[in-house]
Amino acid sequence: MDSMRQRQPVSGDFLASEKGTQRKKWKGLLPVALIFPNRYGLGNSNLGFQLVYALVNSLPGFVCERFFYHDNQPPVSLESGRPLRDFPILLCSLSFEQDFLNLLALFLAGGIEPLAEKRTASTHRFRPGQPLVIGGGVASFINPEPLAPFVDLFVVGEAEPILPQLMEHLAEHLTSDHPEVLLRGVVEKFIGCYVPRFYAMHYGGDGILTRIEADREVPARVSRIVLDKSQVAGHSKLLSPEAEFSNLFLTELGRGCSRGCRFCAAGFVYRPPRLWQAESILAALAERPDDIKRVGLLGMEMARGEDLARIADYLLGEGCTLSFSSLRADAISDELCSLLAQSKLKSAAIAPDGGSERLRRVINKGISEQDVLCAAEALARAGINHLKLYFMIGLPTETEDDLAELLVLTDKVRKTLLGVGRETGRMGNITLSVNSFVPKAWTPFQFHGFAPLTVLKNSIKFLRKGVVGMANTRLVVDQPGNAFYQAVLARGDRKVGLAMYAMLQGQQNWRQTMQGCGIDPEGYAMRRRGQEELFPWEIIDHGIDRRYLWGEYQKALEEKSTIACDTAQCRRCGVCHG
Ligand code: SF4
Repeated sequence: MDSMRQRQPVSGDFLASEKGTQRKKWKGLLPVALIFPNRYGLGNSNLGFQLVYALVNSLPGFVCERFFYHDNQPPVSLESGRPLRDFPILLCSLSFEQDFLNLLALFLAGGIEPLAEKRTASTHRFRPGQPLVIGGGVASFINPEPLAPFVDLFVVGEAEPILPQLMEHLAEHLTSDHPEVLLRGVVEKFIGCYVPRFYAMHYGGDGILTRIEADREVPARVSRIVLDKSQVAGHSKLLSPEAEFSNLFLTELGRGCSRGCRFCAAGFVYRPPRLWQAESILAALAERPDDIKRVGLLGMEMARGEDLARIADYLLGEGCTLSFSSLRADAISDELCSLLAQSKLKSAAIAPDGGSERLRRVINKGISEQDVLCAAEALARAGINHLKLYFMIGLPTETEDDLAELLVLTDKVRKTLLGVGRETGRMGNITLSVNSFVPKAWTPFQFHGFAPLTVLKNSIKFLRKGVVGMANTRLVVDQPGNAFYQAVLARGDRKVGLAMYAMLQGQQNWRQTMQGCGIDPEGYAMRRRGQEELFPWEIIDHGIDRRYLWGEYQKALEEKSTIACDTAQCRRCGVCHG
């Protein structure tokens, strides 16, 4: 192949220190490019990305190599340094809306036509240079529509139950079938496969979606795939000191979350919450390389106390320490505290998310000020004296009183740390991390608007003033303008996707480009939606009754809480049918 002559050096820096790298000879195998359109460190910390990498490479007929985004540089694979144009299948792992633009930039830099129909217009089969582009990952099954013009096929939901069979099917048909025939065959055979070109979106004169029209012989909506149970819980397949979670062996305790926070899309699209058996978690932990001693447990808030005690015993026996990114303030048990104390961790994060008791009812967070203070004290006594507190601003119904209460809570946490610090001689500090709330598809707040930028900026000013004089406290805020862009994408459609592509090709900023494409970004981000409005992302069927989401939105506005999932009994949202 011509492109082989331009082969670039292998990214030896990353590979030299990485565990789990798969290097396969290409001869006779079907090459698959696995793309994470962001930095290596972020992608290699993503369990879903790692799982797909290991899973495809475990199939004898395939070789799967990784690509990451590097500022518009021509992309080459990490394992063999081959260019993107050498691969007939591209698997794109999408975790963040902000990565959508990176993906298109990566296609352009790699000499791949971004538009799906144009890419296949002049070919009778998918092949290197005119590859089959498959999208997956949580951002694509929350709302795939901004990427619909660019992706041939989305795998909607969790990869494990479908990917091996799907890949075998592709191996059989890729070189023989016309792209259209191949895609129809996939949709016929597999659930959870969404081919955007088989669906047309119809809009009214006001620019609002009125109808989603499916081609003949494809389902009206695409059901997502869910993993029922796991023999060996999901765990790290790749370990690297360069990853965001450096050399941290991640293990799932379950998947999904039972709490029903109204802002959290993952909490809805990963329903029902599933807790893995202790045996399958221990089986996953047993796969940890001997010299990796740091373990991160995901889904700790759902774990049964007795399971956590068993896992803690095992980890302590193995000389492991525990690490985690964020803890639920009401889930800090005795077992966890003893494990933390022995882990010698110095910092941890708690996410009250809403600044006031009232706002936490609105978002259904289900934790009280007392929970936060007890957690802070327990963590400080376990030796963790740097606490990060996560909050959002611009939440539905928020007022200045809520922001004032946020500051009061922060100060109480600070004083709690100081109190423990005086006894133990270790002075604590706080990072107050504040992000603008972005309404997401498939949540009760999908009907709500993103807050005006002036409101967000004033809230930040108010908080900045409030932390002045609060010793040992640092305020970190996001840029509301970036969150606004994210809000447009989060509830965007194909028109937004095409505007994103136009921006890459032109010289204007995204706001000017959108306006040039006849798109009103404020409308996408800030408009409140009515109960009956059809949404582009409803092409996906997550099994959630939209009346439930509307009902939850109304309860939020009335400041009413909803109890956590009980999958044995509950039929509320429509996901568990028993
Ligand atoms: S039906 Fe009930 S238990 Fe099941 S996911 Fe929905 S709210 Fe949770």
